[in-house]
Amino acid sequence: MIIKPKVRGFICTNAHPQGCATHVQNQIDYIKGQGTIATSAKKVLIIGCSTGYGLASRIAATFGGGADTLGVCFERPPTERKTASAGYYNSAAFEVAARDAGFYCETINGDAFADACKDQVISMIKEKMQQVDLVIYSLASPRRTDPKTGITYNSTLKPVGKSYTAKNLNTDSLKISELTLDPANDEEIANTVKVMGGEDWELWMEALSEADVLSQGCKTVAYTYLGEKLTWPIYGHATIGKAKEDLDRAATAITASLANKGGQANVAVLKAVVTQASSAIPIMPLYISLMAKVMKEEGSHEDCIEQAYRLFTECLYHGEPRLDKDNRFRVDNLELRPETQAKIEALWPQVSEENLFELTDFKGYSENFLRLFGFGIDGVDYDADVDPMVVADFK
Ligand code: NAD
Repeated sequence: MIIKPKVRGFICTNAHPQGCATHVQNQIDYIKGQGTIATSAKKVLIIGCSTGYGLASRIAATFGGGADTLGVCFERPPTERKTASAGYYNSAAFEVAARDAGFYCETINGDAFADACKDQVISMIKEKMQQVDLVIYSLASPRRTDPKTGITYNSTLKPVGKSYTAKNLNTDSLKISELTLDPANDEEIANTVKVMGGEDWELWMEALSEADVLSQGCKTVAYTYLGEKLTWPIYGHATIGKAKEDLDRAATAITASLANKGGQANVAVLKAVVTQASSAIPIMPLYISLMAKVMKEEGSHEDCIEQAYRLFTECLYHGEPRLDKDNRFRVDNLELRPETQAKIEALWPQVSEENLFELTDFKGYSENFLRLFGFGIDGVDYDADVDPMVVADFK
C-alpha cells in the first residue's frame, strides 16, 4: 500500500507505519542525546502512552531514566485495507526499541476508564514488575463511560458564563473568521468534568494502592494546560479548564491517600503543543502557530519530548522542583514568560489570511500535525509500498 495523508478537518484518518516508527526513534535519539536522568523512576505505568505527551513521557522514562514501562492506550489496529492509528504504530515501534535496549515493556490496548483495564494492569504489574514507582496520567478523550453506572459522558469545548467570539483558523481551508461559541450549560460543564476531571485518576490510584502495587515513595502526575489571556476563554476558564481544576482537587486527595507510602501526586502544567487532542480545540491551532513563531525566534521552542525531559529533570526528579502555589509542577514557564505572551498578544489582532504564513508559523504547525501521523518525516520514502499490517503483541 502507498500511504499518503488523508486529512479531514482537524484529524488525519490514516497513519504511516515507518513514518511513525521514525518519529518515535527521533524522540528516543533526542532523549539519549540529553544523557541520563538521575534518580528517575525505574518502573513506570503510563496511562495514555501512545501519542503526544504520554508517548514522550514513556520515551523519557525509558531512554532517559532507564525504566521498564507498562503503557495503556486506546488505538485502532490495522487491517489489510486500512492503516492503524498513529498511536498503534508508535507503540509498536516503542516496544521494539525498548526491548532491543533491554527494557521490559508491555502495552495494553483498551479502555483505561473501565475496571477491567485497571484489573489487567494490576495483574500485569504483580506478575512482571511487582510495584511501580511512577504513574503518569496522560489521557485525552472526548468521552468516558463511568464504570460504576455504565453511563457514557461526552465532554464539550465551550466557554463558561458567557459566549465568546474570537478569531479562528480553519486549518483545512486556511480561512480565518470570527467564531462565536455559546456558553456551556451546567450539564455540559459537569459532563466535561466527568470525562477530563480527576475522578478516573483517583480511581486508578485507589485501585493500584489497594492492590499494593505502588512502591514506597511512589509519585503520580497528571497533565494540564493553563495558558494565558488569549486562550483562557476557550481553555483555562472554559469547560475543559473546569475539568482540569478538578485535577487539583484530585491531586490533594491522592497525596493524602498515599501518605502511608510517602507518595505524592502532582498536576504538571505543560505548554501548548500540536497533538491530536489540541488540534481539536478551536482557537488553539492559530494560537500555537503564533506561539511557535515567537518561541522559535526566541530560541525557546519545545515540542512534547523536550517538555517531557524537562518535567523529569526539573520537576519530578529535581530536589527543588519548580512548583506554583497550588503545588503544580510548572513546565510551561517559557511559554508564559510575560515578554513572550506580550509578543503573541501584539501579533494576534494583525493576523489575516493574507499574512498567515509571514506572521505565524502555520507552516511549522502543518508539518508538525502531519508528523503526528508519520508523514513528512526525513528519511522515509513515501512513494514506497508499505505493509500496514504491523504486528504488535499488545495485551
Ligand atoms: P493525545 O491525543 O496525543 O494523547 C491521548 C492519549 O490518550 C493517547 O495515548 C490515547 O490512546 C489515550 N486514550 C484516549 N482515550 C483513551 C481510553 N479511553 N483508554 C485508554 N487510552 C486512551 O493528547 P495529548 O495532547 O498528549 O494530551 C495528554 C494530556 O496532556 C491531556 O491531559 C492534555 O490535556 C494534556 N496537555 C496537552 C497539551 C497540548 O497542548 N496538547 C498541553 C498541556 C497539557
